[in-house]
Amino acid sequence: MAVRALARQRGEVRANQDFRFAGEVARLAAVFAVTMLLPIAFLAFLALTSLRWEELSVEADLEARGRGATQGLQEQTAELFARFELATMSRLQRGESPTDNLGDLSPFLMAAFRFDADGRLAAPFLLAEDTPVVVPSAGWWEEVRLARALDQSGTADERVAAWRRVEAVSGSPVYAGEARLTVARVLAGAGRVSEANDLVQDVFSDLGTTRDPRGFRYGHLALLELAAFRLARNEPTDAEAARSILEDLVDALLQEPWVVGRTSEPAVVRRALRQLEGLAPPDWLAERRSRLTERQSQLRWADGVRNELELVFNRLPEGNFRYVGGGPDSPAVWAILQWRGQLYAFSFSAAALLEELRASAARTTALEPDLVVRVGTADTLPGEAKAWRTLGPALPGASVFAVPKDPEGLARSVTWRRTVRSAVVITAVFVSAVGALWVARLVVLERETARQRAEFAANVSHELRSPITQIRLKGEALLLGLVEEGEDMRQHHEAIVRESERLSRLVDDVLDFAAIERGVKRYHLRAEDLEAVVRQSVESARSEFERAGMNVEVAIDDDVPRLLLDRDAMGQVLTNLLSNAVKYAVEGKWVGLTVRYRDPVVVVTVADRGIGISAAELPKVFDDFFRSTDPRVRKTKGTGIGLAIVRYIVEAHGGTITVDSEPGRGSRFAVTLPVPPSDTPEP
Ligand code: ADP
Repeated sequence: MAVRALARQRGEVRANQDFRFAGEVARLAAVFAVTMLLPIAFLAFLALTSLRWEELSVEADLEARGRGATQGLQEQTAELFARFELATMSRLQRGESPTDNLGDLSPFLMAAFRFDADGRLAAPFLLAEDTPVVVPSAGWWEEVRLARALDQSGTADERVAAWRRVEAVSGSPVYAGEARLTVARVLAGAGRVSEANDLVQDVFSDLGTTRDPRGFRYGHLALLELAAFRLARNEPTDAEAARSILEDLVDALLQEPWVVGRTSEPAVVRRALRQLEGLAPPDWLAERRSRLTERQSQLRWADGVRNELELVFNRLPEGNFRYVGGGPDSPAVWAILQWRGQLYAFSFSAAALLEELRASAARTTALEPDLVVRVGTADTLPGEAKAWRTLGPALPGASVFAVPKDPEGLARSVTWRRTVRSAVVITAVFVSAVGALWVARLVVLERETARQRAEFAANVSHELRSPITQIRLKGEALLLGLVEEGEDMRQHHEAIVRESERLSRLVDDVLDFAAIERGVKRYHLRAEDLEAVVRQSVESARSEFERAGMNVEVAIDDDVPRLLLDRDAMGQVLTNLLSNAVKYAVEGKWVGLTVRYRDPVVVVTVADRGIGISAAELPKVFDDFFRSTDPRVRKTKGTGIGLAIVRYIVEAHGGTITVDSEPGRGSRFAVTLPVPPSDTPEP
């Protein structure tokens, strides 16, 4: 359908050609789209979507690192307690007590407790037994006042009698013991040491476990008194005896359980150690002193956490540690263990543990470029935390979390990366698209040239045929004697010559063009008279102009110098320009040819008043194979190589060719040729 419509306009052959060309262009476009545009679009899509993945991966990376950091701290905590459990168990398995030398078990352990099967605290401390408060009788106060007064001024007997009275009215061993020891001290002071000794021995055996009003046990006080009496005597054997009494007292007290909340036992040990100064060996003293210090600090801690002890007392599976927090405000973290019928409770300092973990978190933070690792409680967990872990069960309530060091910086860096990536992608896509379009353009141009060549071949054959036909017809007519002598015969002969000339011009053009294309066309320039060349060309074309009814005007300056020319080639230039004027300006009836000397050039112009050339086509008229799409041009025979040859020849002469034209008003071609310097020797 389309072909037929086109055929009506452009002829069958052309229409088919055009149609084939359109098909090829469509095929090329399809190949181009599949092999270039699709991959580019796909790559751009990949690059842009990978951006989103990259953002996610930055987030994911941060989260993974946060998880790593928090997990590290969690493991560190677990390891801290694992080491404690291992040390404790190995001690228990060796049958040693885990309630002393706590520093070896864990640096954070403040105190350890052992309970008996009934759940009563058994070691290293006892809970205070509920001793009823004993109040002395009313008379006691009076007797004590009298006895104290006598202590200042009375004789030994009077004082002994006074303190005996105090003893008699005291009403309770708690107060009686005190009076009896005072009597013994008075007797000893008066030199009646053996009496005093007996008295103290009595107190020791009667009231050994009874505590005085300040909480001291009379047994301990009695031993201290006995040692003091011995030391007062200044005999070596007495000193030895005193030393053994005091050393036994110290060792016994350091071993037996103390009572939580009472400081009397450590006070007695301290006092005994002071008395042993100079008596006992210094390293023995130092060792006992350090044990005293440790037990004292345990006792202090135990006193602080005593009301949590019942909290931690629990039946547990044998040999398993369980961790319990002392409560929201407690300074302690507890580990409890059931072992061979005994329950152990280990009390750690929560503050020291947290401090250690915080220091470790700070070290991790210092190494980590984008995260802050913090230890806190779950209720301090910030919203932007990337990772979070509790430190339980060992540290109940505590947790470690990682937050970005600079959350806005993160967003900024993501934005920056996105900008850079987008710019790169857009530039790459743009460059590829431009390249692809460029390639497409080249391909289209190539196709266009191929099409022009095909058209050229068709045009050449067409142009060859008509002169050959003419020559054959006229020649045959002459041969058969069909032409009468005279004018008719002359016309036949002229026609044969004219068509032969046209034929040879065409063949010359085609051969020249082929030689130019192959780069083998050579011109032989010599000093020639341009006017002669011009006149000869006009003469050759004159009959053609006459037949076309065109008027030729020639104007040549007188002073035109000789130029370096290839005569034949320059003749070809003029013939081509003139024959174009006949072809495209026959209606104008006029051709003007001028030769002007404009030092240092000579300008040859060929002007007509024909159809002219559109502004769009003007720059292309000197291109190979160019023929206007104007139907008035199309109906004229032509090959599209005439002006290309003209331009080539003019340039080979060192000149230039230009064209001025206006559609409907005519065209003017101007050839500018250089004048050689006058001293150029003629070849
Ligand atoms: P052709 O064999 O087609 O004449 P040319 O190379 O001589 O080839 O000319 C190229 C084209 O330039 C022509 O097809 C025509 O369109 C245009 N042209 C050349 N000379 C003239 C002119 N004097 N007036 C109008 N158009 C012209």
